Amino acid sequence: MEKPFLTVVVPCYNEEEVLSESVAQLTNIIQKLVMSESISNKSQIMFVDDGSKDKTWELIQQYSESNEHVSGLKLSRNYGHQGALLAGLTEAHAYSDCVVSIDADLQDDVNAIIEFIEKYHEGYDVVYGVRDKRDTDTYFKRNSALAFYRIMSKLGVNMVPNHADYRLLSKRALTEFLRYKEENMFIRGIVPLLGFKSTKVFYNRNERFAGESKYPLKKMVLFAVDGITSFSVAPIRLLLVIGSVIFMIGVVMGIYAIAQKIIGAVVPGWTSLIVSLWLIGGIQLIGIGVLGEYIGKIFKQVKERPRFTIEENVFEMKCKENKINER
Ligand code: UDP
Ligand code: MG
Repeated sequence: MEKPFLTVVVPCYNEEEVLSESVAQLTNIIQKLVMSESISNKSQIMFVDDGSKDKTWELIQQYSESNEHVSGLKLSRNYGHQGALLAGLTEAHAYSDCVVSIDADLQDDVNAIIEFIEKYHEGYDVVYGVRDKRDTDTYFKRNSALAFYRIMSKLGVNMVPNHADYRLLSKRALTEFLRYKEENMFIRGIVPLLGFKSTKVFYNRNERFAGESKYPLKKMVLFAVDGITSFSVAPIRLLLVIGSVIFMIGVVMGIYAIAQKIIGAVVPGWTSLIVSLWLIGGIQLIGIGVLGEYIGKIFKQVKERPRFTIEENVFEMKCKENKINER
């Protein structure tokens, strides 16, 4: 039986400092898997250069010449982690029997890939990499992530806790995944929606091998907001509840005010007026903001813009060179 062709998709943004180590460690894993006859000896590590400003793409090109397992994609600009991942997965689809996605910074233990492949051979379509503990992350990152998972699950979004984008997808899971055409791809929220037989593999999360996080606070917050508003209408419902409560208070206040007037105990009422004015004004603004978030999403979606643009595709070249059949 033909061995499964594995593609490891690695999004990279300004990762020149870690790339050589990533190549070394991932190649080592691929070689082990080839030796144990678990995967095809043509299997690829696909580095997706997400519009890096440093030497990342030059390095990827060099490695794809010197290392038979390395290839890459160059995106025309920075599309963000999720965009880069999506580009890699889309391009890997035609040639791969299974794909693994992993960050370039080696924070996720590459050895887990061996277990991923074992699970794949046992017939699992989705294998989640789950970190055991996060003590190498900063206090803030750890707790903000935890709070985020909690909020998401309260909002009814089914996510695997402590799982980021380190996972294996079988061919058919990937095929289904690529049918999700939404503009704001929140990949880790979509994968559990695919169904199929899935399992988890636990590993320890390391410190970033080199370089610094490409996810500053601003990107993290945007990512979280995207995650929530792409998957849940709860903020709109919350607005409705707050609105209704305020409205009821307003009715009571109105009756009270009229009663006061009839009795004749008219007060200047300036303070209460101004206070309620500001209060309601504020709530309306929040409401408009939340609605705007969704309308913005609809706006983007109806335009159906391409979600990424590939400038160069060494991966496909290499697959054709090696006469890999499309699957
Ligand atoms: N990344 C990317 N595009 C971006 C930001 C990040 O492709 O705009 C890649 C980055 O090179 C890394 C992965 O996404 O391989 C995760 O980023 P990082 O390790 O900086 O995030 P953290 O682990 O700190 O959340
Ligand atoms: Mg990282």
